[in-house]
Amino acid sequence: MAEFTHTINGEAATSDKSFDVVNPATGQTFARCPEASRVELEHAVNAARLAFPAWSRLSFAQRGKAIADFAHALAARIDEIGPVLTREQGKPLGQAKWEIGGAAHELEAMCKMEIAPEIIRQDATHRVELVYRPLGVVGAITPWNFPIILAAHKIAHGLYAGNTMVLKPSPYTPLATLMMGEIARDTLPAGVLNTIAGGNELGQWMTEHPGIDRISFTGSVPTGKKVLASATGTLKRVTLELGGNDPAIVLDDADLDEVAPKLFFGAFLNAGQICMAIKRLYAPEKLYEPLVEKMTQLANAHRVGDGMDEGIEMGPLQNKMQFDKVLDIIEDAKRHKVRITAGGHRLNRPGYFIAPTIVADAADDMRLVKEEQFGPVLPILKYADVDDAVRRANDTRFGLCASVWTKNIERGTEIARRIEAGTVWVNHHVSSEADMPFGGFKESGFGRELGLLGLASYMEPQVIKVPLAA
Ligand code: NAD
Repeated sequence: MAEFTHTINGEAATSDKSFDVVNPATGQTFARCPEASRVELEHAVNAARLAFPAWSRLSFAQRGKAIADFAHALAARIDEIGPVLTREQGKPLGQAKWEIGGAAHELEAMCKMEIAPEIIRQDATHRVELVYRPLGVVGAITPWNFPIILAAHKIAHGLYAGNTMVLKPSPYTPLATLMMGEIARDTLPAGVLNTIAGGNELGQWMTEHPGIDRISFTGSVPTGKKVLASATGTLKRVTLELGGNDPAIVLDDADLDEVAPKLFFGAFLNAGQICMAIKRLYAPEKLYEPLVEKMTQLANAHRVGDGMDEGIEMGPLQNKMQFDKVLDIIEDAKRHKVRITAGGHRLNRPGYFIAPTIVADAADDMRLVKEEQFGPVLPILKYADVDDAVRRANDTRFGLCASVWTKNIERGTEIARRIEAGTVWVNHHVSSEADMPFGGFKESGFGRELGLLGLASYMEPQVIKVPLAA
């Protein structure tokens, strides 16, 4: 494997220390990653601060052009970055390339919108203008499930708004992100995008750092709470994209042949390790057994293995901690009166593989239903009527996404409006689009990314009031 380096002030940088990166398909170390200390963090923050004045003075169009160059260079390196992403994250190679291609697409698409100054009032004596200014240096912190696309969301609007950035990936999946930094060296002015890898403490130093003005965090609810607490010392602006426990409600008119494969995709893509994956599936009495049967067939037919092998649809869990947590949740379910109709066990091979698992007759008080499982295990729950389904869908501290499945779009829309979640789809689950603000209700988040709301969150509104000449 090539040597991996941080990118600070447009140049490669290393550290005295380094750490192992494990391939979850084998459980073995396959690369070493430099581990940034406070010294490299200082260098990165200083570089970002120095780059800020010139970058922030450019127009949206000029910054958008530079970000598009970065996106094109990223797309041109898909064949090189894809295998690194598969080895560190576990996802099948086709899905790794799809993530990188999607990131390149979103980087451009997110830089097509603009926030224009607004005249709030103009009368005989004064003009009052509302303008939006960049904040300064953004600290971006990403998780291990979609390292590239989640970084791309932060880079796109963070930089497009006129800020500069220090980006830190998860220590489980740092390498493909460091390769994004290499691309920034050739396509963006020095210091505009700095990428440094390190442990969890590096994230904490960033949230406390007085030279960082804004934190854009994606990760778990417990870490998100720590980030918010730690950012209060400097009153940084913060957005938190956190976990979910998304419900999908199948209505009694749904065509199961059509919806079951889509539900399966929404629950098992990326081995279920998606914040907005379907994590609870609600079905009415009349469709319950046929739906369980269809989901079981799909789970049994799903091809699981090393993401570098041909034809694989699902890889391993990304790390040992998550693997153990999901196995614990399955064991807890087995202690209740459930039917495990598919999977329910690890694969008998090295690496962190769990068979796609369907749990029928799941109960509301099981860990699998109450917690975010973040793995390839789906509980199917029976509901009495739509009011019962909506009440139970909303009975959670999470509120990221949800979906309703029906042939009757009007009825589906009406039910969607009753669900407490940041995004609710009818007949769809799992996607992000450049113009759709994304974020969570309740403990699933704080603020929005994407769309105009996302762009505005990287800027500070400013009122300018001027007297008019008589
Ligand atoms: P995590 O919270 O453990 O780690 C996320 C990032 O935070 C990592 O880079 C980590 O090094 C860093 N970190 C850890 N401790 C920190 C601290 N004290 N201060 C600052 N940074 C710190 O999350 P994870 O396990 O990597 O990711 C899985 C979670 O992310 C799931 O809950 C998932 O739902 C959530 N997620 C949410 C979204 C979303 O958009 N809402 C998207 C993807 C993943």
